[in-house]
Amino acid sequence: MNVDYRYILEPYKGMKTRYHCPNCNKKGVFTRYIDRQTNEYLSDAAGKCNRLVKCGYHYAPKQYFSDNNYSFDTKINYKVGVKPKPKTSFINVEVFNKSIETKQTNYFIDYLASIWDYEIAYFLADKYNIGTSKYWQGATVFWQVDINGSVRSGKIMLYNASNGKRVKEPYNHINWVHKALKLDSFNLEQCYFGEHLLNEDNSKPVAIVESEKTAIICSIYLPEFIWLACGSANNLNEVKTKVLKGRNVVLFPDLGCFDLWNNKIENLTNLATFRTSTLLETKATETEKRQGLDIADYLTKIKI
Ligand SMILES: [Zn+2]
Repeated sequence: MNVDYRYILEPYKGMKTRYHCPNCNKKGVFTRYIDRQTNEYLSDAAGKCNRLVKCGYHYAPKQYFSDNNYSFDTKINYKVGVKPKPKTSFINVEVFNKSIETKQTNYFIDYLASIWDYEIAYFLADKYNIGTSKYWQGATVFWQVDINGSVRSGKIMLYNASNGKRVKEPYNHINWVHKALKLDSFNLEQCYFGEHLLNEDNSKPVAIVESEKTAIICSIYLPEFIWLACGSANNLNEVKTKVLKGRNVVLFPDLGCFDLWNNKIENLTNLATFRTSTLLETKATETEKRQGLDIADYLTKIKI
C-alpha cells in the first residue's frame, strides 16, 4: 500500500466519528487520522478541526511521526498484514509487433486518413504504436508502452471509419489485449498512452487528455506538446505521474470534467508544474457542454 495513503482522515460515519478538538476543546468537531493498515487511530491528537477559521488545528501524520522521532517509512512495520504488491505484467513484444506490422484493415487508421491522408495516418500509427486486432473486423489496438519501452497492455477498440466514433452498439466494443489472450493472473499496471514519447524531448511541455484518439489527433494540430492520454481521471495519480517529473504539464479535460481533473492536480504539484486548460470551458456553447466535447472535436471542426 502506498505510504501516502496509509493514514487518512476518518470518513464521516455519524457523530461517533467526530471528537473533542484538543485545541479549541469543542465537542464533535475533530476528525482523527486512521491507520488503514490496522484500522486504528494514529493518536488522539493527530487530526483536523473542522472549525477552520476559529480554530484551524491540524496535526498531520507526517508531523506526528517527526515529533515522536518515528521514521515515516521504516519504524512502522508495513509488512505486517500487507500483501506484497504483485509485479507488473508485460505483453510479449512479438504479439505487439505482429499487431503493428499487419496490413489488415484498421478503421481508426482509415478515419485518420479521412481527416488528412494515409501518409499522415501511418505516421501517427507508427508514432503512437497503433496496432490492428482481429478481435473484431477493423479493430484498433492502442498499446500502452511505458517510458522504458515495455508493453503494459493494449486497449482494443472498434471505431466507425467514416465518423471516427466508437462502436458502442449492440455493445461497447472495448477489451484489453491480455484479456483477449486469456493471460492468467496478468497484473495490469496502466501507464499513459503515448508515454514512450517522453523520451524524445525532456524539455517539451506535456498535454494530457482522456482519450487515445484525442491525443493522437491533437499531436498534429498542436505539435508543441507531447500528447498523452490517461484513459480516466483516476490515472492522474502520483504513481503514474512520476514519469512527468519536472515537466510543464497542461491538462485538457473533456467538457464538464474541469473540476474533477483540476482537483487531481492538487496532490501532484510537487512532481511537475500542472495547469488545467480552461479553453473548452470558456469557449463552449451550452449544447456543446451537454455533449461533453473534447479538444479534438474542436480542432477537427477547424480543419487545417
Ligand atoms: Zn478546534
